[in-house]
Amino acid sequence: MLAVTIRAYGGPEQLRFDEVPRPAPEGPGDVVVALRAAALNHLDLFVLRGLPGLTHTFPHVLGADGAGVVEAVGSAVRRVRPGDRVLINPGVSCAACEYCLRGEESLCPTYRLLGEHLPGTFAEAVRVPEVNVQPVPASVTWAEAAAFPLVFLTAWRMLVTRAAVRRGETVLIWGIGGGVALAALTIARRLGARVIVTSSRDAKLERARALGADLCINHAVADVPAEVRRATDRRGADVVVETAGEATWERSLKSLARGGRLVTCGATTGPRIEADVRRLFWRHQTIMGSTMGSARDFAQVTRLFGRGALRPVVDTIVPLREARRAFERMESGEQFGKLVLEIAA
Ligand SMILES: [Zn+2]
Repeated sequence: MLAVTIRAYGGPEQLRFDEVPRPAPEGPGDVVVALRAAALNHLDLFVLRGLPGLTHTFPHVLGADGAGVVEAVGSAVRRVRPGDRVLINPGVSCAACEYCLRGEESLCPTYRLLGEHLPGTFAEAVRVPEVNVQPVPASVTWAEAAAFPLVFLTAWRMLVTRAAVRRGETVLIWGIGGGVALAALTIARRLGARVIVTSSRDAKLERARALGADLCINHAVADVPAEVRRATDRRGADVVVETAGEATWERSLKSLARGGRLVTCGATTGPRIEADVRRLFWRHQTIMGSTMGSARDFAQVTRLFGRGALRPVVDTIVPLREARRAFERMESGEQFGKLVLEIAA
């Protein structure tokens, strides 16, 4: 089958459109999905550049997100059968450890991601465990189905499972235009929260306003904590959604209300952060880590997607063989929403 692979780490020039063996079910619980669309995440750029401590067998197939039609199933698979339309949860866990047994799959010590540790979705087919697929109705396009899983699972767990956002609370989201930030905006709006978003580009703020953001701040020119305080009667935001790390951390803490929760899933600008512990305890604030989500989180958020209650924003759709264009657009930071690769049947 054809796939987007790497044989060395580096920039988009390392991407190849290659012939690799087509997967078949290996264990009795395996499902092989004939992919119809896949979507990029920042993770794919990190894998392309090479991650410390992670080595691949080349050629390595990239891609975490995908959706398609079930092509083959192992003998023990009961929930889906060939021909079913499914989307894929990119996080694969062991199903046997303490965390997996209590339904906290993303805490599994051997948690692995498609395209990072396992062969990915930028291919004509991918093999995953049965628990990693969820049916999607025909009302959802392949592009939307592929754009949905990683960012909506991540944002759902951050806002619902971890920070437990309530109606009427204020949520601050940095860097609107990124996949997780846009998913967080969509989910926070649905939860009845008031949403403040930031970007360094006014055009992205305009588009976020059209999607329902209540206040849009250009973080390149404005004092974000001061703007947040002004907009909240000096209280600050109840929840801050962090994905950037070093560049925004101090301003995130300064924007946080008494009793507020800062929830982080990323460090795209660097991993080393500081906090004044006195501020934290005096203001009863909480810092929460979060990554991906459990099978239960995935089932919940996918159900809302199937009903049309949540929709990903798709920026661009290109054919699989033009993946390099999509990677270059992601590197440029110009995208608003997901970059999707279309895969011919
Ligand atoms: Zn486990």
